Order: sequence, then C-alpha cells, then structure tokens
Amino acid sequence: MLRRAGPICFWGEGRGGVGAEANWIEARGKIIVICGIAKVCCLHAMKKLSLTFDDGPSPPCTEAILAVLSYHSVPATFFMIGERMLAHEATVKRVEQAGHVIGNHTRTHRNLCGATFEDLDREINRWGQYFRPPGGHYDEGVLKYLRDHDIQLAMWDAEGLDWKLKTADEIVAYLDAQISSLEGDSAIVLLHDGDSEDVGSEHIGGNRWATVEATDRIITRYRAQGFEFVPLREMTLPRGPKVWR
Ligand SMILES: [Zn+2]
Repeated sequence: MLRRAGPICFWGEGRGGVGAEANWIEARGKIIVICGIAKVCCLHAMKKLSLTFDDGPSPPCTEAILAVLSYHSVPATFFMIGERMLAHEATVKRVEQAGHVIGNHTRTHRNLCGATFEDLDREINRWGQYFRPPGGHYDEGVLKYLRDHDIQLAMWDAEGLDWKLKTADEIVAYLDAQISSLEGDSAIVLLHDGDSEDVGSEHIGGNRWATVEATDRIITRYRAQGFEFVPLREMTLPRGPKVWR
C-alpha cells in the first residue's frame, strides 16, 4: 500500500539553528524545519507523480494533451519516436515551447535487444537526456550504449495501459490500482499520446482521446490526494525489475 506522508527525514547542507533555535522555512510549498546543524528534517514527505507520454508526437492528441497540461500547469516528458518527430516538427516545437522535456524513444520503435552498435547508433542517435526503450526491452548492450553517451534510462513505476484500454474510466482505474500498490510515495507514470503500431504509415498515431481525458482526471484526482506533479529530473529513475531479452 502507498505509505502516508512523512515523518521521514532527509539530510541537506547546513543552513540553520540547533535545537530550540530551530527555524521554519518554506521549501517547494512544504513546511520543513531545520532541526540541527547541517541537517534538514522534512516533516511531510512529498508525494510526487511525474507524467510521461510515449510514442508521439501524434497530433491532434498530443496537442490536446498539451492543452490539458497547460490548464493544470503540469510538466511532463514526451518520449518521442524519431520518425514521428520528423513528420510532425510543428508539434515537437510546441511541446518544447511549452517547457516539457522530450525524451528519446528510438527512431522506429524497434526492440533493441541484441542490436549491433550500428543499429543502436541509428536508433538512439546519441541524443537526449533520457531514453525509454520501446516495450521496456533492453539488454546490456543498450545499457552500455546509454552509459557511453551519458543518456539516462528512464523506465516507469505505473502505467495506464492506455494502448489497450478504451475508456478514460478504465485507464484511471488501472493506474489507480498500480499507484495504490506501490511502495513509496512517488511514481513515474506511463501514458501514450501516440500509437506505435502505425509508425511510418499515414496514420496520425492512433486514437488517444481516452488518454487526453484520463490525463485531466488523473491530475485532478491525485492533486486532491496531495500529490505534486513534478518533472522527471525530480524523480529517482527506476531501472525496471530486470533486463529483458
Ligand atoms: Zn513505445
């Protein structure tokens, strides 16, 4: 079950008094207390969610998701497919201009397990701060390539299964069950603004209107439960439970 907020402690650099001289300060909207020399005690563990969207860009659904995120002032990371980026440059630009992070999701959405260096270089192309392997499949070769090019593997903690489920109700319920069963108070959430099945075709990336509606409801629902929506850089990146082959 999800653990309730604090009182957990973490330790920061020294900025404060000792014992009775403890000072209260504001940090990211949360009250923390300086409770000793060089020690900062957080009274309320922050519950954090970071939204990520894979397989786009895919207008008009990507654009609609941007509108939802803007309305709620929520940051997100879009793991885009290279061929889609080339086909929808205007949407890529709008995602960037909105301040969201664009992650690497390969050029053609192929499984990279067993790929040669040349294949990896073509698919990942040495760019991006974050990389998410299609289908979550990776092996030691992928990890080495990422290490060598200073790119972070960015898996996820919970997903909406929106590539399969048809309605916002189903997506929210599926995600809710996952988040409720997580250990800890934070989760990187995987949703999809595009459909990997039609990469390279004339299609616009599949129907993701249920995801658009689900995104709006997820933000409203979890904010009401005290979660903060944060960019990926504020999360501890999960590596996934194992190396798939
Ligand atoms: Zn994908």
